[in-house]
Order: sequence, then structure tokens, then C-alpha cells
Amino acid sequence: MNIIRSKQELRVAIEKFRTTHPGQVIGFVPTMGYLHSGHLSLIRAARQETDCVIVSLFVNPTQFGPTEDFQTYPRNEERDSRLCRQENADILFIPPLSDMYSATHSTTVHVKNLTRHLCGKFRPGHFDGVATIVLKLFNLIDPDISYFGQKDGQQCIVLQKMAKDLDLRTQIKIMPTVREPDGLAMSSRNVNLDPVSRQKAPLIYKVLLNAASQFQAGELKVKTIVNEARRILESDPAFKVQYLECRSLDNLSAMTTINRPCIIAVAAFLGGVRLIDNIILKSRDHV
Ligand code: AMP
Repeated sequence: MNIIRSKQELRVAIEKFRTTHPGQVIGFVPTMGYLHSGHLSLIRAARQETDCVIVSLFVNPTQFGPTEDFQTYPRNEERDSRLCRQENADILFIPPLSDMYSATHSTTVHVKNLTRHLCGKFRPGHFDGVATIVLKLFNLIDPDISYFGQKDGQQCIVLQKMAKDLDLRTQIKIMPTVREPDGLAMSSRNVNLDPVSRQKAPLIYKVLLNAASQFQAGELKVKTIVNEARRILESDPAFKVQYLECRSLDNLSAMTTINRPCIIAVAAFLGGVRLIDNIILKSRDHV
């Protein structure tokens, strides 16, 4: 595995791969590092489906708000490199901040409407930061297929819209959320949970599963399903729920009745750590 630390070197390596391996497929997995099995599932999918696997590791400051956890975001480059090597990635791209953002960087990608809801409402500018860095990485790498995790459900929808609107060549593949045995969605931030919070955290997924079974049992009223989920989660005051909403999967519009595919998404603080998760409801199995 080749560890590359500059845009220039990355461009040269990709050009070389393209000329020496014509017609072969480049797979790309963007990450902020501190890799866990969720990230590794994306890398494995890329390894299976593509000929050259590029992983990026960059904690992107522009997607963090001024009071958010950019400084304390967990980092461990050595371990991440080892894991990428074990997964047979071809290139690990670790650019320095100054290479990704010059001192005079002035351009932002903004995906309208979709970013007003859910996380976008509580993290102003977050998705601008995400879309901007992902587009920059797409431009540098020009991947055939890029891999993202369903855990960041709104991010997937926003990036798919950006790719469509801006005629990007890459195919975007969304991989299922990888969970701990107790159901907690894997996240680099989980390491910041104190032991009591860690033990409580799986309740988030439990309320989502409960919402899904209500739907399977025939409940179609969004209010009933969402209120019940929120009630259970807030019955433990350790959870400070930011949002718990059901929105249409295609454009994140609000719904009163589940009459089309939807996402139930939740964000909650637990012991000072912000956790997100979601579940998708498509159709009732027995209908
Ligand atoms: P991050 O390093 O948090 O920016 O995540 C990098 C990529 O890994 C994103 O596409 C995430 O959606 C994905 N990812 C993070 N956690 C998980 C998970 N538990 N399961 C699947 N994919 C994940």
C-alpha cells in the first residue's frame, strides 16, 4: 500500500494507474479516520468490486461548527494505516490541511433544501463542508465507484444529489450500517462515551427497531410512530434528543402518513457525545 501525502503525488499515481491499467476501475472510500468495522466494510466492498482501492483520511475542519469537536475528534494515523494495509487498500491518501485548503480558499458547494433538515438544521454549514471536501476529493481521484455508509443517511442523500446536479461521473454506493453486537451504530465518536453512556447508547437503535415493528404491524401515522420512539428515548433523561423525525427518502420532505419510502432519523447527545442513527422503511413485508 502506497501512503500518499500530497495532492500532486496523488494525481501522478492515479494518472500512472490509468495509463498502465486501461479500463480498470478505481474505488474510493473517503473517511475522517479512526477506522472501525463500518469503515472497513466500505473498504472491503471496494476491494471486492474495484481494481484500485483508494482510501482518504482527512479530518475536515470545514464540516465542524465553531463549538463542535474538531479538536477532540479521535485520531490514530498509525492504526488506520495498519488497518488499510490489512484490507489491501492500494493507496491511503493523508493530505495535510494546508494542501486541501489554501489560506485563500473561497469556494463552497451548497446543496439546497435537503440540507435544511435533520442534521443540517442543527449543524449549520456542516453539509457545505462535507459537499465541498467530497467534491474536491472526487475531482482529484475521479473514482469510478465511491462508497459511503447508510449510518450517515442524510449525507448519502445530499451527496447523491450533488453528484446528479453536477454531472459527476462516479457511481455512489451506499453500504449498510455496521453495528456493535448490542445494536449501537459504529462511530469513531463512540470511543468518547463514558462507560455508563456506552451501556445506554443501544437504546437509540432499539427505538428505531420498535418504530419499524409498529410500521410492520400496520401503523402508518408518522406522529404515532415518532412520538412513541421519542417518548421511550426521553424516558431516560441522559438522552438529549436533538431530532427524531420521519421524512421522505427521496427529498427529505415531511410526511404525515407513511405512504412512500421514508427514513426515520435521530440525533441525540448522550454524556456530551452526539450520536446519530437511522432506519429506512420501504414497504411492509406482509403487504
Ligand atoms: P467518517 O469517518 O465518520 O466520515 O465516515 C466515513 C465513511 O464511513 C462515511 O461514508 C460513513 O457513512 C461511513 N460509516 C461510518 N460509520 C459507519 C457504520 N457504522 N457503518 C457503515 N458505514 C459507516
